Amino acid sequence: MPATLKTDAIVLRSIRYGEADRVLHLYTPAHGRLSAIAKGSRRAHSRFGGRLEPFFRLTTILHEGRSELRTVTSAATLAGHPRLREHAGSLDAAARACDAVGRLFETEDPHPGVYHLLANELALLDDDPAGATLSNQLAFRLKLLLAAGLAPALDACASCGEQADLVAFSPAAGGIVCGACEAASFALDPAAYSFMVGALGASLAAAPAAPMRALRQVERAITELAEHHAQVRLRAAGSVLSAPG
Ligand SMILES: [Zn+2]
Repeated sequence: MPATLKTDAIVLRSIRYGEADRVLHLYTPAHGRLSAIAKGSRRAHSRFGGRLEPFFRLTTILHEGRSELRTVTSAATLAGHPRLREHAGSLDAAARACDAVGRLFETEDPHPGVYHLLANELALLDDDPAGATLSNQLAFRLKLLLAAGLAPALDACASCGEQADLVAFSPAAGGIVCGACEAASFALDPAAYSFMVGALGASLAAAPAAPMRALRQVERAITELAEHHAQVRLRAAGSVLSAPG
């Protein structure tokens, strides 16, 4: 007998399919990333209404058929995040957050922390569209790397264990390195180091500020860590710092 799965889910992507359907990429607390088809959802008067758009957090019932693609049989809104959609900067940050989750966590392995982190990020962007800063996006990505087991080593030189003279970042070594181990690394300002330590130790809403130069170094560290250790290419973090209109 076919099984049904009731699960909360965040819509990462919503792809038009056929004449009237959508294929959804969903991120769930206990089943990772799932794909599901919502038949007839693009028809006028569809029972799904406008709920199957990206960034909606839903309670869904999914029917497991013979193929890998499940079928959405019901969807109720937990959070639609309407304010987030009114500002280009927060919309863009939300899209990049969903994209990063989809790329780093593309299987059905459960990562409930990732689900809650993404739900938290979308709620923050909806509460305050001006919060779509580069530091917010980088703090989010650092926490994603942590959940993926790729958090940068920041306690000591990732190559030799030295605890002083930590002046550079090596994606290959997986963290900060000392002056003697600088090969294949790039310079890291003290402010960039402080940002990473602060962002990993604080809640997402309390991400620290840092100068743009330091934030760009942090972005490079995150991007190259994901490439080197997960073979995942993340889109550049948005540099549009939106002011609410
Ligand atoms: Zn070293």
